[in-house]
Amino acid sequence: NKMQVMEKYRIPMVPGPVAVPPEILEVAAFNYGSPDLEDEYITLYKSTEKALQKIMHTRHKIVIQTGEGMLALWSALKSTLLPGDKVLALSTGLFGYGIGMMAETLGCEVKIMDFGFNESIREFELVEKAIREFRPKMITMVHSETPSGTINPVDQIGILKEKYEIPLLYVDAVSGIGGSLVKTDDWHIDFCLGASQKCLSAPANMAFLSVSEKAWEIIEEVGYVGYEALQPFREAVKKRYFPYTPYWQGTAQLHKACQLILEEGLSKVLARHEKVARYCRQRALEMGLELFPASDAILSPTVTALNVPPRMKWKKLDEALRAEGVVVGGNYGTLAGKVFRIGHMGTQANLEWVAQAMDILEGVIKKA
Ligand code: PLP
Repeated sequence: NKMQVMEKYRIPMVPGPVAVPPEILEVAAFNYGSPDLEDEYITLYKSTEKALQKIMHTRHKIVIQTGEGMLALWSALKSTLLPGDKVLALSTGLFGYGIGMMAETLGCEVKIMDFGFNESIREFELVEKAIREFRPKMITMVHSETPSGTINPVDQIGILKEKYEIPLLYVDAVSGIGGSLVKTDDWHIDFCLGASQKCLSAPANMAFLSVSEKAWEIIEEVGYVGYEALQPFREAVKKRYFPYTPYWQGTAQLHKACQLILEEGLSKVLARHEKVARYCRQRALEMGLELFPASDAILSPTVTALNVPPRMKWKKLDEALRAEGVVVGGNYGTLAGKVFRIGHMGTQANLEWVAQAMDILEGVIKKA
């Protein structure tokens, strides 16, 4: 395995940031010169956009930002929402719930429909009723809820969004894009949000989002001008200048990451994620662990969330795994100490790699 990882942790299994392959690391290892190269940067940017459009199945424009996923999440909210606007936040976990809270801080009238953190969005008649009665300007949801290890039926919400002519469907697909099918246009998504450090296997700090024509119209109407504003990106790229200092290295790495996925073939990449997820789950069950998600039908192919065994403390489990060179993901908020996660996304969606990690996990649990 040519992957260079920290000597101390031979097997990173965190659900992002994931291990970065040498081909992606190396494209950042040289200087790209001065701002005079803006035109070349735009070429790189446009080419990255094209690749992301293929991976996300969209013809919509993609904005690529220098910043972590949260930058994209805030950008889409701040650029389209005004105080008093109605937002229906469909929540099945920390991010789904959190996005609703973010809209609330912007002064929006937010209705949070919470389905439970170990569940997926279901009871579509209730969702439909909420949409019909509440008539939100935006519906928000998460595609792959990373802390919960679950996946949501974006297509079903897209159908309702179209039926009731809701202006905006906002989908956080940060831990789905590149590892689980995302059909931005078919699913009627207006903002589909992603980040570099999950299934794309690039370093953190490149965020990206697809923006529909309807979303651009609303962005123009709202006219938000703060740091996270999306509006400057629309004309800028068309006129071949970039609104901020371009982050050449990060963009080049994101570009390379997309190329690697497209070279392998998107459907093969997605099948690899499915296969590894199935294996990971099966091994976990065989060693007596419990899956956190309430049913098999809603498991994310990019991350497996497991209950910390009843007689173990998360801290002890984490320490024991680290001592063996494996680092998995803990959790946050109400899931902290109770649920841990194995990230098999991007480079880590690798059967051999996961097998090694699961062998070590099995040994640690037996010993405990
Ligand atoms: N949304 C989801 C579903 C995530 O898993 C994460 C990160 O874990 C984010 C958003 C935020 O991304 P970032 O940490 O890059 O800001």
